[in-house]
Amino acid sequence: MVQFASSPNSQDNPAALQSSTAIRDILRQQRAFFETGKTQSYEFRLAQLKALKQAVLDHQTEILAALKADLSKPELEAYLTEIWVIKEINEAIKQLRSWMKPKSVPVPLEQFPAKARICPEPLGVVLIIGPWNYPFQLMISPLIGAIAAGNCALLKPSEIAPHTSRIVASLISKTFDPGYISVVEGGVEVSQAVLAEKFDHIFFTGGTAIGKIVMAAAAQHLTPVTLELGGKSPCIVDTEIQVEYAAKRIVWGKFINAGQTCIAPDYMLVDRRIKPALLEAMKTAVQEFYGEDPAQSPDYARIVSDRHFNRLIQFLHEGQVFVGGTHNAADRYIAPTILDQVPLNAAVMQEEIFGPILPIIEYEQIAEAIALIKSKSKPLALYIFSRDPQFQDRILQQTSSGGVCINDTIMHIATSSLPFGGVGESGIGSYHGKASFDTFSHYRSIMVKNFWFDVKLRYAPYAGKLGLFKRIIG
Ligand code: NAD
Repeated sequence: MVQFASSPNSQDNPAALQSSTAIRDILRQQRAFFETGKTQSYEFRLAQLKALKQAVLDHQTEILAALKADLSKPELEAYLTEIWVIKEINEAIKQLRSWMKPKSVPVPLEQFPAKARICPEPLGVVLIIGPWNYPFQLMISPLIGAIAAGNCALLKPSEIAPHTSRIVASLISKTFDPGYISVVEGGVEVSQAVLAEKFDHIFFTGGTAIGKIVMAAAAQHLTPVTLELGGKSPCIVDTEIQVEYAAKRIVWGKFINAGQTCIAPDYMLVDRRIKPALLEAMKTAVQEFYGEDPAQSPDYARIVSDRHFNRLIQFLHEGQVFVGGTHNAADRYIAPTILDQVPLNAAVMQEEIFGPILPIIEYEQIAEAIALIKSKSKPLALYIFSRDPQFQDRILQQTSSGGVCINDTIMHIATSSLPFGGVGESGIGSYHGKASFDTFSHYRSIMVKNFWFDVKLRYAPYAGKLGLFKRIIG
């Protein structure tokens, strides 16, 4: 692992130049490692996945402590959303052989005699840059795909969750040869220094604005990117619901990790006829989950930094507080807050909230809700609460989003048979399960001919052959 404190980008800064040199050294080692061909075999990849699983199991206590220190993450939430990666590793271990298998495909008659197959091959050396909100899972989960697909990897965790960054770095350095998988720690400057180098794939999780910077850097080397970004994920609620269950599922999805979840319902669009009953049920759910004073609850996380805390408390004045609204700068606490009567032009309705504040917008006709969603960038997630299949279909047909979860929140991300990713400004590409393997693989098309005979039709001279080709093409 390598830790950088100073700017490696500046040409005038000797420490900076040293840091860039260190990054280049790691990459040189990783290229050499990849060229040995070791990562190609099933046995090698399987052994590395098993080693990763064991390392996560062995470090659980430290990982949970780091998440507590960075985000006051409750232990159960940390298990469900971060240590959860063990489940993904198990699946990769189980499926690896079938994922790696070349696939035979048919060849057209005019190619006869020939065979064709598609073979997944590793891309080479890949870069994985992560955010701070699920700082362990969002480093390890893409790494599973990178290992399964046979790549070497360089990881750059978020500096905003420094304790977790440390544990990721130490776990990786204890488990893997640095020539195979390595971690560089540090902030924006380190990220920029790493992005200046050439990789075979860049997998970035973070905000849309930084995603554009990453894509621009990747373009310098024509490096393909996966961008797992954010956005405003709407939650639409119809009258045809089980009110108590809907309320609990929305409250849970919004307030886990204190709302700092890329697929948290960002704002709610609710049919005005069900709104009073639903809001009351949501108030009850908040009290049931976190007690009369959520500041005292061991099950409620904190805002990651003063910058984010100060950004979020500005939103509290942009509507009528229906639930919550209190905050405390000393421990970066913001109560689970439901904001009613929010004007559409309020700042809280313009940018991704990424905190425990849920604006409520009521609608009379579903067309109004659809029009509002379509006036914004395509979201990462979209939630529909309704028993009515026609209502569901209408929204599905008239909107677009990275993923959809009907009658629940968040749970689609925990289903590895569903590729997870955004669309438009919420991201490019997807992962989880087989999709992770695909993301870090190149599918090579291979045709094999033999020497049984040689059809001369395609060779010059061409005179008299065109009519036959026209008949073949049809
Ligand atoms: P961020 O974009 O600020 O930072 C992500 C990473 O980029 C960090 O490692 C950081 O060091 C690096 N970085 C920051 N500025 C940079 C720059 N100028 N140049 C190069 N690298 C830079 O994101 P964040 O604040 O850590 O995370 C919050 C965002 O991430 C939200 O928008 C959220 O929706 C999104 N997110 C998306 C997913 C997903 O799976 N789609 C998951 C979690 C978070």
